[in-house]
Amino acid sequence: MKLTGRFFLTHGALGVFTLAVSFVLMLGGSLVMLRREASRAQMQALETLGMSAREAALQREDVALLNFMRHSASEPGVLYAAYRNPRSGVVLTAPQSFEGEASATGAPVVPGPATRPRTLRNGTEAVEWIQPVQVEGLRNGWISLVYSKTALARGLRDQLARWTGLAVAAGAVALLLGWGAACAIARHLVTPLKLIRDGTHLVRSGRLGSLVAVDRDDEIGDLARDFNAMVLQLKELDEMKRDFVAGVTHDLGTPLHAIRSASNYLQAGDAGPLTDKQAEYLLMISNSTQHLISFINNLLTVSRIEAARLEPYFEPVDVMAHASELVALYQAQARERGVDLKLVRKVPYVSLVADVTMFRQISMNLVSNALKFTPSGSVEVVLGEEDGDFLLEVRDTGVGIPPEYQELVFDKFYRVKQGKEFPFQQGSGLGLSIVKGLVEAHGGRVTVESGAGKGSVFRVRLPKQPKPTQWYGGRKEGEA
Ligand code: ADP
Repeated sequence: MKLTGRFFLTHGALGVFTLAVSFVLMLGGSLVMLRREASRAQMQALETLGMSAREAALQREDVALLNFMRHSASEPGVLYAAYRNPRSGVVLTAPQSFEGEASATGAPVVPGPATRPRTLRNGTEAVEWIQPVQVEGLRNGWISLVYSKTALARGLRDQLARWTGLAVAAGAVALLLGWGAACAIARHLVTPLKLIRDGTHLVRSGRLGSLVAVDRDDEIGDLARDFNAMVLQLKELDEMKRDFVAGVTHDLGTPLHAIRSASNYLQAGDAGPLTDKQAEYLLMISNSTQHLISFINNLLTVSRIEAARLEPYFEPVDVMAHASELVALYQAQARERGVDLKLVRKVPYVSLVADVTMFRQISMNLVSNALKFTPSGSVEVVLGEEDGDFLLEVRDTGVGIPPEYQELVFDKFYRVKQGKEFPFQQGSGLGLSIVKGLVEAHGGRVTVESGAGKGSVFRVRLPKQPKPTQWYGGRKEGEA
């Protein structure tokens, strides 16, 4: 999973977990708080009613008390309010329908406000708040406020639901803000990492001038600086190696050409007749020399490609003639191995302006590889066009290349390790890197489609006409 995705998930999970824990804790806390608040309000209402009862007793104004009781009874959750004075026999109840209930209860023995559970005669569960009424130091009856338990619970539930709604909305906003912050942090971390990754890809494809521009003081900045230092070191090593290879190949080439010329003269009988054994040994010397010269030429081509010193000489190419010649050249080798080698033309005529020598080398490298890695079956050289470009395809039914190696085979010296069941003669691993370099020097592209045991299709696409371009060997001018 990508880093950004992970950030979102972990941050989201952490946020949800924190919110859930805080929600449970706050829910428990607010339940206690709401209950305490309700209880305080009920006691306050009782105290106010008690004060009114004392005033009424002092001024002998039962009507005023009754009005106040009616007012108290209209408060939410209150079933009825009552005043009872056993000494004077006065019983006031609001609403009056509860008079029976008020008369039925005994006098409280409490000195101050108290609660007691009650079950009314109609079965209603209630809570009764009671308080004696003291007038001039004497007890003058008692007042009570009776609340319905169900109504009290409903009130509590409603308040809790309102609070929960608010908490959920606040939680959702917090979660969204958290996700926004996670997104910003992820971007802050991932953007420079992506730059470093892209730089790695460029270096991997041989562009050793690719430094990453990450200017930070943290560990990612350190990584970028180390990466750049490593790239510069690689570039320096690469230049040293390139100079070394160019020097060595040049030094080796001269004596090898001399050996080949000398063995050619000997084979031609310039130094007198040869015995059969001498001729046999000379052939071995000549073949090995030729092999070494081809290898050195390949090395030189690779050095030129890498130094971007390869400039195609563009001229019209008789593609059909070259392809037919190539197929004819490899026909004997194909027949010997029991492979059907043929040329397929998808269009009657294909035009191409390219470097003839380079074009020949591209097609030869691909066809010789196809024959080398096809123990039986067929090899097709297909000429055609695609979206206005010239297209050369070399298709084989050979061992194929597993997907994980398909990009690597274009690297120089890279060879796919073959199983023991395929005793192919391995080459130097330069052929495809040369193909890629030459194709890119033309502003084209080479790709492979393959799979283990499924054969391979190498596809070369070249512009039919050279473009006025500053690209050589796949590099921009001035780029190392
Ligand atoms: P080599 O000189 O070893 O052929 P190349 O650069 O031409 O070097 O090829 C690199 C590797 O790619 C080869 O060693 C081989 O493993 C693989 N390869 C190239 N062409 C084919 C093909 N047509 N079928 C299967 N494998 C191939």
